[in-house]
Amino acid sequence: MKVVKTIDEVKQAVREWREEGLTIGAVPTMGYLHEGHLSLIDRSVKENDRTVVSVFVNPIQFGPSEDLESYPRDIERDSALCRGHGADIVFNPEPGEMYKDGFSTFVDMSVLTEELCGLSRPTHFRGVCTVVTKLFNIITPDRAYFGEKDAQQLAVIKHMVRDLNMNVTVVGCPIVREADGLAKSSRNTYLSGDERSAALILSRTLALGRKMIEAGERDVRKITDAMKKNIETEKLARIDYVKIVDIETMQQVETIDRPVLCAMAVYIGKTRLIDNFSFTEGE
Ligand code: AMP
Repeated sequence: MKVVKTIDEVKQAVREWREEGLTIGAVPTMGYLHEGHLSLIDRSVKENDRTVVSVFVNPIQFGPSEDLESYPRDIERDSALCRGHGADIVFNPEPGEMYKDGFSTFVDMSVLTEELCGLSRPTHFRGVCTVVTKLFNIITPDRAYFGEKDAQQLAVIKHMVRDLNMNVTVVGCPIVREADGLAKSSRNTYLSGDERSAALILSRTLALGRKMIEAGERDVRKITDAMKKNIETEKLARIDYVKIVDIETMQQVETIDRPVLCAMAVYIGKTRLIDNFSFTEGE
């Protein structure tokens, strides 16, 4: 397995693989890998001849007051994990390699980015769509793997691939959780002991919402009100959003009469955590 810093090195390896007729899987990440990322890598290694894991803290998807500088980084550890899980290349570019002087082309999306994280982080998905497009152009993967943990991101990428006729199959992978239910996230490392306990309010509140839906409640206002009330019982928690949206369009619904995503972003202290579940009648 190779760790490479330049776009040319990735392109060269991809050319050689293509000459041999091999298939390629891509796993875009921001690094500080955990079992959530590793589940994506395992799936890619299983389904493709070669796997490229990108480890890149993408500056253009962070807002001005967000955690770009403090985002955890450990490329040595990440590389060892990728090697252990059978990846072929770790692509770890510097920001200047991805965004050369004068960079001025962006990929943006409307509708699907209007709610949820797109509302709280107005330039986030422009940054995500742009970097993922660049990674797809560099790696030219047959398949690319994304986690349902970032459900809006997964929907946005699938939609972008469809809208722009990109030659890649986007594969969504289930959320990997800690034993107590907290969704694994690189940002969990920011949490103090008290905050780590408080963070359980996310998965517990999702369980409450799911229970209400499974018991037959279809009024979105009633469900989200109960969920918000539950989060407010945790004094270290501050709600960014708790919403139920159409799973395709990411637009809010009033009644659960189609497949939906129930998603939340909650600050625990200064750390913004997200989690979600999807619900389809009869599934
Ligand atoms: P990140 O490094 O946070 O940008 O995440 C890179 C990829 O890993 C994204 O597709 C995420 O959705 C996915 N991912 C992150 N956390 C998890 C998790 N707990 N379970 C499954 N996938 C995850």
